[in-house]
Amino acid sequence: MLNFKEIVESGKLYNFHSHTQFCDGRAEMEKFVVEAINEGFSYYGFSPHSPIPFPSPCNMSEKDVPVFFAEYRRLVRDYGDKIQLYVAMEIDYINREWGPAIDYFRRLPLDYRIGSVHFIPSFNDKDQYVDIDGHFDSFKEKMRVFFDNDIESVVKSFYHQSIEMIEQGGFDIIGHFDKIGHNAGHFREGIELEDWYIKLVEDTFAAIMDNNLIIEVNTKALDKHQRTFPNERLFKMLKRYDAPLLINSDAHYPELINAGRGQAKKMLATYGL
Ligand SMILES: [Zn+2]
Ligand SMILES: [Zn+2]
Repeated sequence: MLNFKEIVESGKLYNFHSHTQFCDGRAEMEKFVVEAINEGFSYYGFSPHSPIPFPSPCNMSEKDVPVFFAEYRRLVRDYGDKIQLYVAMEIDYINREWGPAIDYFRRLPLDYRIGSVHFIPSFNDKDQYVDIDGHFDSFKEKMRVFFDNDIESVVKSFYHQSIEMIEQGGFDIIGHFDKIGHNAGHFREGIELEDWYIKLVEDTFAAIMDNNLIIEVNTKALDKHQRTFPNERLFKMLKRYDAPLLINSDAHYPELINAGRGQAKKMLATYGL
């Protein structure tokens, strides 16, 4: 596996989480490579939202997977002397039948894998999976339609699914591990400070440590919503864990590949990280 610790300690610029034309990113892979070279990056990894077993506008389709690999190889040929490129996926954990641990993903020749939860089952129909990661307006509507406005159960479902994903393995980096906190916190202010919520986060964190995963500090919402994933109030907890932390921008636009990195670094430094 890629030596993330060495890369982080080198102090060189990297980003291992980004989205392009193959999923819901807003530009072609090549544009990200050119931008990364212009901004002086040494390492750049592509992590499209993986195929999932139902239609989704945000995820790559299975038939595009070979096209994605071919485009990656072409970019390595054309730009590989200027930047180290990596091919990866942000793999969605849906359930025991579909997640980073299944053979399909294990067989793909990926340099590394990010495991993330974006979908949880509807309370009315367990076979229907709902994306809980979008903008708050659509989240609020989904809370009404699919989850009887029961935010505690949605949060529990998110973390239980995350722990299940971690226990099954098949990935290297846990993506934005408290992502639900953003929409849940808008739905019910202060929810992230409630004891039961903190307990769920701690259980998830314990599972991460037990499985030696790399934690990313995701800066996608830092400029707009002044928060990282995981949230700054969890940084003290991260300090207990002696694993490499990656700062990833989760960029969907080339101009955002480095967004939030400086601020996140400063925030982490305050906690001795
Ligand atoms: Zn994600
Ligand atoms: Zn992402």
